[in-house]
Amino acid sequence: MKYLDEYRDKNIVRALTQKLHNLSTRPVRIMEVCGTHTMAIFRNGLKQMLPKTVELVSGPGCPVCVTPSSIIDGFVELAGNPEVIITTFGDMVRVPGSNGSLADARAEGAKVEIVYSPMDSLVFAENNPDKQVVFLSVGFETTTPTIAATVLEAERRRKESNFPANFSIFPANKIMGPPLKMLMEDPALKVDGLLCPGHVSIVTGSDAFKFLVDDYGLACAVAGFEPADVLRGIIALVEQVENRTPKVENCYGRIVSRKGNLKARQLVDQVFTTADSEWRGLGNIPDSGLIVQDDYKTFDITSLFNIKSAPSIEPKGCECGEILKGIKSPPGCPLFGSRCTPSSPVGPCMVSAEGTCAAWYRYQRTEDRSQNSFPPLAVLIYL
Ligand code: SF4
Repeated sequence: MKYLDEYRDKNIVRALTQKLHNLSTRPVRIMEVCGTHTMAIFRNGLKQMLPKTVELVSGPGCPVCVTPSSIIDGFVELAGNPEVIITTFGDMVRVPGSNGSLADARAEGAKVEIVYSPMDSLVFAENNPDKQVVFLSVGFETTTPTIAATVLEAERRRKESNFPANFSIFPANKIMGPPLKMLMEDPALKVDGLLCPGHVSIVTGSDAFKFLVDDYGLACAVAGFEPADVLRGIIALVEQVENRTPKVENCYGRIVSRKGNLKARQLVDQVFTTADSEWRGLGNIPDSGLIVQDDYKTFDITSLFNIKSAPSIEPKGCECGEILKGIKSPPGCPLFGSRCTPSSPVGPCMVSAEGTCAAWYRYQRTEDRSQNSFPPLAVLIYL
């Protein structure tokens, strides 16, 4: 994509890195909230290019990683029903629950289909009228509007044609504000600023993060995902901390507005309503999840089927909870790189394409920035 070239240009990246080194005089600890940012930072070797004064920690921004094992167990239980076809995004398939993963269930004969859009599930429903097709509805504000649109489309088709009443969702969507509020009130986590999630902000608008400035005095920057985008976000945060002028700075103005996508939020409000929700590692957080509104309960598999909800059991020795809270980094987990690798994951943070453990394993295996097992090519290109 040519229009992105200016956000990847090595001269621009080099100039931004130099600017950051020039302006940074004191320690600044920044949490990147979004899993896509985590991957972008590691893939482009940005950590190695930062001044020693700037520290990045990862937050709870990977939707697969924060889905608790009780929900994964519900998915696996449902997949074991011979009347059900599961449709899901690919990342969810290998996440281990306490009774195995969807991949294990599929190996035993369960029908688990990977889709690239929730709308694809409607095709499975149409082609399999004798089965219940269930889309595993996982994701943050970015993903939820397309799921709401799919439910509304299924309803429209039911009313207007002979579309079978065999499509439903397993609602497990979450919203970002409440866990951030909870984390910022945790004395164990000390951060000066947040690199706010660019994709979520497209829907919520940058104003959605203003409470972090008003209530916690934090520096905030909404940023995109190319190397220059991320560096501009970090520069904005360091400047705010240096000058003691916290605010929400929108560094992703080519896509994000202050108010976000109203139409997308209307779709979500029509189909879903907020409810308390369990997050892996963070526990139950008030009003942090979404359940289906009463008018659309016929599309909610948890209303149609009796799915047992046992308490979550974390994989033994897995420290995903601490990692999602930004309190530990993956090398601090004794299983990292030994018993837990991408080909044999113990916890979700090693499975997901946005997982912090997967990012560390792939691009940086030690805490020491100067001792990487695999110096990213990007570092050599930019520097
Ligand atoms: Fe869990 Fe594996 Fe990460 Fe350890 S390295 S926290 S076991 S996902």
